[in-house]
Amino acid sequence: MNDKTKILIVTGGVFSSLGKGVACSSLGAMLKCFGQEVLIMKFDPYLNVDAGTMAPGQHGEVFVTFDGRETDLDIGNYERFLNINLPKESNVTAGRVYYETIAKERDGKFLGATIQVVPHITEAISQKIILLSNKYQPDFLIVEVGGTVGDIESIPFLEATRQLQAKYRSQVMFIHTVPLIELLTGSDLKTKPLQHSVKDLMSAGIFPNLLLVRSKDAVSNKLKEKISLTTGIENENIYSLINLKHIYLLPESLENQKVQNSIFNFFKMEVPNRIGYKHWDTFTSLIKEPKKYKARIAVVGKYSDSPDAYLSIISSLEISSFYLKTDLSIEFINSSSLNENNISELSEFDAILVPGGFGKRDIEGKILAIQYARENNIPFFGICLGMQLASIEFARNVLKMHDADSTEFNENTANPIITILEGKNRETNLGGTLRLGNYNCELKDGSKILEIYKRKSIVERHRHRYEFNPKYMDIFEKHGFVFSGINKENNLVEIIELENHKFFIAVQFHPEFTSKILSPNPIFYSFLNVSKKPI
Ligand code: GLN
Repeated sequence: MNDKTKILIVTGGVFSSLGKGVACSSLGAMLKCFGQEVLIMKFDPYLNVDAGTMAPGQHGEVFVTFDGRETDLDIGNYERFLNINLPKESNVTAGRVYYETIAKERDGKFLGATIQVVPHITEAISQKIILLSNKYQPDFLIVEVGGTVGDIESIPFLEATRQLQAKYRSQVMFIHTVPLIELLTGSDLKTKPLQHSVKDLMSAGIFPNLLLVRSKDAVSNKLKEKISLTTGIENENIYSLINLKHIYLLPESLENQKVQNSIFNFFKMEVPNRIGYKHWDTFTSLIKEPKKYKARIAVVGKYSDSPDAYLSIISSLEISSFYLKTDLSIEFINSSSLNENNISELSEFDAILVPGGFGKRDIEGKILAIQYARENNIPFFGICLGMQLASIEFARNVLKMHDADSTEFNENTANPIITILEGKNRETNLGGTLRLGNYNCELKDGSKILEIYKRKSIVERHRHRYEFNPKYMDIFEKHGFVFSGINKENNLVEIIELENHKFFIAVQFHPEFTSKILSPNPIFYSFLNVSKKPI
């Protein structure tokens, strides 16, 4: 491994959903404020080869990297916080490690050896860290180990990182995140689960150098002393991950506690000058500013009970809302609950967004919502499936093609407005044939979308199989439907918009994956801008 990169291995204890991903992102953002170049990667302990086949309702959204990897949603957090585009190697599942190792074995690459978890799987895991650090040579590589210490699945990852530290002692630091438990509101804070989690880590041969304690309020000195005494971690290396008004305030909170001192001390470095991280400080102060506007946005989708299924969409709207000083409220409406009788209840909202999705379930409610937005001049933003349904709605209700459909939902429709176009740059993978990752798009002169992006060519990330059927373009255009973004290489429709509407834009790609805290995606920004009202 190169001797420049310092590795922070971040584990989690006691239970999941501690906010470990946000903690890693915040450590990264904070280190960037001290002039450090930072990359982050995540190991996921499950056996899926990537997140592509996992249900968003259970596991949260599938995030897509620019180079087309379907990843865990934490990669999206890392990208937004650090304002960078991470490569596909930044998410590695146990499934991928096993899959690649077994493929190597089938190819006869192990020359007769017996393939075992230790050393082969552990070696494959540490190679993933080494490869990333050698390829990009960042100052810091933060490695989030998914899952909870003590789980069977985590063992190979802990062993691999332990071995890595044994080999590169001065370059590898362990950070453990653990909760303080409050049984009843106002009762004593219990440190016992935390102590046991540190013991679990120690029995795997790892001594955490720094502890991030998740709790409602800052951990008191008295409690820090107790934790220090029972775990052996020095008082000054114990910090709090407290509840904040917003996750984007966490880097500032870590910096105020001087977490940087522990990190730089560990690597025997002086704490560098705080050169600031572009406009991070402006951004954190924006979050705290009073709001001048408000906007209520309806997201009409399938997973109304699992907001994590739409994490990047929520984040893109939220980030835009800070810049627009808008008090944002997002409501998730399950499209199965919408029908002709209650659709007018959508008039309570300032705007309607129909996100991406797969499969036939509950699409009619989404089509009704799109029709309602189109006919009532309510700002509408359609993403991927939302764009396909906007096209179907237009065909059915304006062009009077009553059976218009996507072949995803009705293979035998006489009017396949949305269909599979063979040979259009698809990669075959286990989950099927998807158009994944970055593709170019040329914007049409005089279009609203050109005003929004303010440049002729854009690149956005994709994740879909079906496309707008080009044989219908003429008839749509004659009725005021504008194809305002086209992928010229493959002649594919990327963006549609309507003339004579306040805001009716739908895109075949996923613009939510390119929002960063310093640069929200322009479509989200403009969509919120037209939807907001003075308070
Ligand atoms: N199901 C549609 C397709 O495969 C849309 C996918 C999406 O919204 N991501 O093309």
